[in-house]
Amino acid sequence: MSAVLSTHGLIARYGDFQALYGVDVELHAGEAVALIGANGAGKSTFLRAVMGLLPVGRDMVRLDGEPVGGTSADRMVKRGVAIVPEGRRLFTGMSVDDNLKVAIDQAARLGAKGGWSLERLHRLFPILKEKAKTPVQSLSGGQQQMVAIGRALLCQPRVLLCDEISLGLAPKVIREIYAALPEIRGAGTAMILVEQDVGLAKEATDRLYCMLEGRVTLSGRSAEVTREAIGEAYFGAG
Ligand code: ATP
Repeated sequence: MSAVLSTHGLIARYGDFQALYGVDVELHAGEAVALIGANGAGKSTFLRAVMGLLPVGRDMVRLDGEPVGGTSADRMVKRGVAIVPEGRRLFTGMSVDDNLKVAIDQAARLGAKGGWSLERLHRLFPILKEKAKTPVQSLSGGQQQMVAIGRALLCQPRVLLCDEISLGLAPKVIREIYAALPEIRGAGTAMILVEQDVGLAKEATDRLYCMLEGRVTLSGRSAEVTREAIGEAYFGAG
């Protein structure tokens, strides 16, 4: 099966500091893949580099086999890649609806087409309909995360990049958000989930990659990779 998204020796730097040292990751159509690893391992950097938010070599990122590394984030959205960024980055003074409309307008402007509408999003997360006119800053963290996911979906992605969508949320809310992921995949969207909670990552994905200090130290089928192997890959063996 050919990959919808793949990275090939992906390297990323912040000035003199090298954050990624040749990362190879593959994502197939409809698949969910987890990226786990300790703080500072390079997971967010990986997503930012793929999304075109950091300068990388052209051949280091491919979409449907075509080199797209260094393509602007806008063009990546147009090509069907969307991100739920770390910290959500919503317009907190604006209503839920107005935040979502920004994404609808962006998708229209870029000509990104797909099956996500406001109505479908409201079926996925009914609270977003109830709170449509509420300023985002008055929502709970979980509700804000639903807006952030909704905003990404309205960009009509084939590939969704999620940066720690469970961070800081109560277990009940995390379950609610994770329960929505199969439907998103069912709509034909593959996803890469950066996740600190290894149990959650294993449950929600087909395959996982563990990163340590800018390198992939383990990859395998989520159901088969043992806790022990993950522990070693997380902290480095010996
Ligand atoms: P976290 O869970 O803390 O977000 P992470 O695995 O996502 O961890 P990154 O945020 O990708 O890790 O960070 C990887 C490395 O790059 C870290 O050493 C971090 O200090 C460094 N880094 C991240 N962002 C920047 C930046 N804007 N400028 C300089 N260094 C950065």
